[in-house]
Amino acid sequence: MTIVESPTHLRENPFEIAQDQLRRVAEVFQIDQNLVRVLEQCKKAVSVSIPVYMDRGEIEVFQGYRVTHNIARGPSKGGIRYHPDVTLDEVKALAMWMTWKCALMGIPFGGAKGGVVCDPKQMSRLELEKMTRRFTSEIINEIGPEKDIPAPDVGTDPSVMAWIFDTYSMNKGHSVLGVVTGKPLNVGGSLGRLEATAHGALYCLREAIEKQDLALAGMRVAVQGFGNVGGYLARFLQEDGAIVVAASDSRGGVYNGDGIDVPNALAHKQETGGLEGLKDTESITNEELLLLECDVLAPCALEQVITTENADKVRAKVVVEGANGPTTPAADEILEDRGVLVLPDVLANAGGVVVSYFEWVQGLQEYFWKEEEVNQRLNDITSRAFHETWETYKSRDTTMRMAAYGLAVQRVSEATMTRGLYP
Ligand code: GLU
Repeated sequence: MTIVESPTHLRENPFEIAQDQLRRVAEVFQIDQNLVRVLEQCKKAVSVSIPVYMDRGEIEVFQGYRVTHNIARGPSKGGIRYHPDVTLDEVKALAMWMTWKCALMGIPFGGAKGGVVCDPKQMSRLELEKMTRRFTSEIINEIGPEKDIPAPDVGTDPSVMAWIFDTYSMNKGHSVLGVVTGKPLNVGGSLGRLEATAHGALYCLREAIEKQDLALAGMRVAVQGFGNVGGYLARFLQEDGAIVVAASDSRGGVYNGDGIDVPNALAHKQETGGLEGLKDTESITNEELLLLECDVLAPCALEQVITTENADKVRAKVVVEGANGPTTPAADEILEDRGVLVLPDVLANAGGVVVSYFEWVQGLQEYFWKEEEVNQRLNDITSRAFHETWETYKSRDTTMRMAAYGLAVQRVSEATMTRGLYP
C-alpha cells in the first residue's frame, strides 16, 4: 500500500485499499477474474479546473473531480465532497464503494463520486455558490437524471444541491428535478432525506443489537463527527434510550460519562460552530474518543480513523460505520480477531443513498410522499439488506464487511454478465 506523504487524513491510498478489498472479496466469493479486471477500475474520471472570483478580488482556481465507477445496474449515483484533502484516488475509492452500497441495498444505481479540493469553512456563501455553479457547468455533460446523479457528502449540503439543480436546469431550459438529490424541500427535495443516513445507521444498529438479544436502551455510545450523520445519529440514539457519552467534530470532542444532552449539544454547535465549551462536559481529543470505554462506537466523519495504531485499543463491542471507509483493512483484521462486530459502511451509512433513490423517483414522477412513508420504506430496505448480510456472515463464517461486499460484488458481476461486454 502506498503511504501518502502529505499531512492529510489519508495515510494510505484509499483507491488501493478499495481495489485490494475487491480482490479479497473476489477470492472468497469466487468471482471470475475477468470481471475483477473490469470492476477494479473506474469507468470514467473527469478532472476539471474551476476558476472563481473570490471576494478579495482575486481569481482562485480549484481542482474538481467527478468519477463514475460502474453503471451495470443503473445510472451512477454518489455525493460531492468539498474538503481540502480531496484527491482523485479518494474520489475513485468513494465511487467504487457507492457501486457496492447501491447493489447491497438493491437500488437500481451504479456508483459515482465527486469532489472539489477546497475548504468550504473558509469560503463565503457567494464564493461557494460561484464555485458550485462553475463546477456544475464543467461537468454538465457527465451528469443527468438517467446518467449520473450527484448528492451531498462531506462539506456539501442542500443549498449546494439547489445551485447544482438550478445551474443544470438553466442550461437545459427547464427544471430537471432528477439531476441531483438532497435538494431543499421547497425545490423538490424529499422529506426524510436530511435525517436519512442517520436513520439508516440507527435501523441497522437496532437489527444488530436485536440479533444479540440486547437492547439499545442503556448502551453507552461514542459518536465521532457531529455533522449531518453524527449529529442526527446521536439524537436518535439518545431518543432510543442510549447514553451518548462522547461526541466530537473536526475541532475536538466532549465527554460526560453520565451522558451528553444531545439537543443541547446540537444547539451549542449551531450557535458557536463547534462542540468546545459545551456545558457539563470535559473536552477530549478525537483520538481519545475512539478509545473510550463504551458499547457502540460510531465513526461518522472521515476515512482511516481506525488504523493499526489504535485498533487494538478500541474498547467498543460494536462499530457502526456512519462514515465511508473509517476502518483500514489491517485494522479490520485486528477488530475481527478481538471479536468486535463491525457494521460496514456500505450497509450502515446507506440510508442517505436509499432516500436519495426515493427523492429521484419522486422527482421523476412529480409526486411526493409523506415522511412516515419515506422512513418506513427506508426501514424495510435497510432491514432486508441487514438480514441478507447477516445470513451470509453466519453461513460463510466471515465478517459483516466481507459478507456485505461479497453480496454486492456478486450482484454487480451478475448484472455485468447478463448485459455482456460491448461490443
Ligand atoms: N454521500 C452519501 C454517501 O456516501 C450519499 C450519496 C447519495 O445520496 O447519492 O452515501
